Amino acid sequence: MINVPKGTKDVLPCDSYKWQFVEKTAREVASLFGASEIRTPTFEHTEVFLRGVGETTDIVNKEMYTFLDKGGRSITLKPEGTAGVARAFVENGMNSQVLPTKLFYITQCFRYERPQAGRLREFHQFGIEFLGATDANIDAETIMLAKTFLDKVGIKNITLYLNSIGCKECRKKYQQALKDYLSDNIDKMCPLCKERLEKNPLRVLDCKNQDCKEITKDAPKILDYICDDCNSHFEKVQNLLTIAGVEFKVDPNIVRGLDYYNRTVFEFVSENIGAQGTVCGGGRYDGLIADLGGSDVAGIGFAVGIERILMLLENTGVKIENPNKVEYYIAPMGEKESQKAFEIVCKLRQKGITADFDHMNRSIKAQFKYADKIGAKKVIVIGSDELNNNCVKVKDMQSGEEQMVSLDSF
Ligand code: ATP
Ligand code: MG
Repeated sequence: MINVPKGTKDVLPCDSYKWQFVEKTAREVASLFGASEIRTPTFEHTEVFLRGVGETTDIVNKEMYTFLDKGGRSITLKPEGTAGVARAFVENGMNSQVLPTKLFYITQCFRYERPQAGRLREFHQFGIEFLGATDANIDAETIMLAKTFLDKVGIKNITLYLNSIGCKECRKKYQQALKDYLSDNIDKMCPLCKERLEKNPLRVLDCKNQDCKEITKDAPKILDYICDDCNSHFEKVQNLLTIAGVEFKVDPNIVRGLDYYNRTVFEFVSENIGAQGTVCGGGRYDGLIADLGGSDVAGIGFAVGIERILMLLENTGVKIENPNKVEYYIAPMGEKESQKAFEIVCKLRQKGITADFDHMNRSIKAQFKYADKIGAKKVIVIGSDELNNNCVKVKDMQSGEEQMVSLDSF
């Protein structure tokens, strides 16, 4: 037997309807906020992620699926959605079309990580990218969209952590202060953070190593360093969220794992799915489009991990109704009746009613068992007596009620 590669999963029919529900909700909520779908390739030139995600991130450092294709090009399977969307935005001249451009995507992502609950090598994200607006009201709107989605799929008890990491200017001062502080503790830091300290000290705040976490607890806080403009932007975001009734906690240690963020950053974290509690992460990335060769276009977005959403729904006992159940299962008692069953399913399907019938020449008892397994709501029994009287017996599988119905009614 050949197994799936480590860190990947099959989605079987017993679960696929839950995925469909989450994806449908994502599409509905995105459209409620005026976002349109964008689909970008599963792989990009590696350069897109080196520039778009950043060389000091975990993703670029150790998690990318990168290979040379037969033409000798360096290709990478997308580890996240934003960089590809930004590349497409620039390449297709979308900045000369409608601004702000409101986009969403649902895509698989690939990261070479140690597989564990809520951490896979192939996983899926629902993401939003709003491009072209700098006003804090679009930050609030982005966060509102994420919250609306989480509410609509049925997630409760989730905490929104909010922070501002300032702009290039105010971050410089902060980075120096942080570097000074961290340099005094360098001996206790993990090897990767020692490197980060030189290249991008903010990354150290995002490290999951326990020793590093201990050190960063007392580190200088970005919010004490941000400039007046960044501060009033952040105040406005908070004010609008308060008006919208969205609860949040300001957490100065949230910096997000990707290099491209500035100003607003946020995470939705749940206590109900263990260590991998971050369900959604996002923020503003005003420099990204320019970094990828475009003009100076602002942006803000987020990504939600669909596997983590499903895990959370499962762990908190939220039931998702399977909408794919067959309305009618037709159970013929013999060969002649089987042809009638075929005629009836054809008619029902033409009317848009889901219907199925026996393909295995099973006994009536076995057919009822099958109908039960596929969750059929009603079973139509066709016997020779019934056929002679031009009628069939319809059994409601839930109530057990039986009714004779004229064949002409189908
Ligand atoms: P984490 O801190 O858990 O590694 P991250 O900061 O790397 O998350 P992002 O790059 O912000 O995550 O991705 C957005 C969302 O995608 C995460 O909040 C999470 O729900 C999901 N996600 C990220 N990596 C994985 C993975 N390997 N498996 C499943 N879901 C993931
Ligand atoms: Mg990660």
